[in-house]
Amino acid sequence: MNPDTRALLTVSDAHVAYGKVEAVRAVSLEVADNEIVTIIGANGAGKTTLLNAIMGILPLKGRASLAGADMAQLEIEDRVAAGLSLVPEHRELFSAMNVEDNLQLGAFRVAKAAAAAAFERVYALFPRLKERRRQLAGTLSGGEQQMLAMGRALMGAPRLLMLDEPSLGLAPIIVADIFRTIGELRAGGVSVLLVEQNAQAALQIADRAYVMELGEFILNGPAKEIAGNDRVAASYLGFTHEGASGI
Ligand code: ATP
Repeated sequence: MNPDTRALLTVSDAHVAYGKVEAVRAVSLEVADNEIVTIIGANGAGKTTLLNAIMGILPLKGRASLAGADMAQLEIEDRVAAGLSLVPEHRELFSAMNVEDNLQLGAFRVAKAAAAAAFERVYALFPRLKERRRQLAGTLSGGEQQMLAMGRALMGAPRLLMLDEPSLGLAPIIVADIFRTIGELRAGGVSVLLVEQNAQAALQIADRAYVMELGEFILNGPAKEIAGNDRVAASYLGFTHEGASGI
């Protein structure tokens, strides 16, 4: 992280286990205000587990703080109120409810006037959702469902949005759209922690990156440097570049 920027999320020496099996081991990470940070890694590396633990869905051993405040005692809804939001891997929309009602659920803690402003913001970011606001979520395309999941998470005006595999199952042109929106979010003052298997797209948009293997971070640094790393290129980008640095 740039030493001049303030840490928004700080995780130190985090461990997360399913019973006796540790899926995340000794992980430390930081996300600053106005930063896009990505975690890349293969299937089963522990990325989803880590996001869920930061959100409070799974117990985290170690320390996690938001804007300097320890989150250990905070329930999920308190974390949401403190400015944390997660868009889960499988989106978890209410498919028999329409777009607007799904968005409304994301604003359940928000006062009426603020909710109206949140709808405006989300519809400005995703005009497609406004066009389809009366359509049932289950009948939307995959890309529109991802937009809706992101929109719902944004209704509470988070300071840090965590995205778990937003590109999953989407056509490349839609992925480009979603990633452009992530850039716009940052421009609007939201920090982003992005878990992605599409390492190429993630490294292009992120400021910094962490590489996760078997529950541990094996490498981190500016996204450009990580993209230039030989082993990352071979393992996650599908090519090797001449003269790239190894790990
Ligand atoms: P993916 O992209 O496939 O979701 P991931 O990097 O997000 O991969 P996790 O889903 O966090 O990885 O899984 C990390 C490890 O924890 C894997 O070995 C997985 O099998 C295991 N695991 C995940 N969920 C559970 C669970 N509910 N119970 C037991 N083990 C689990």
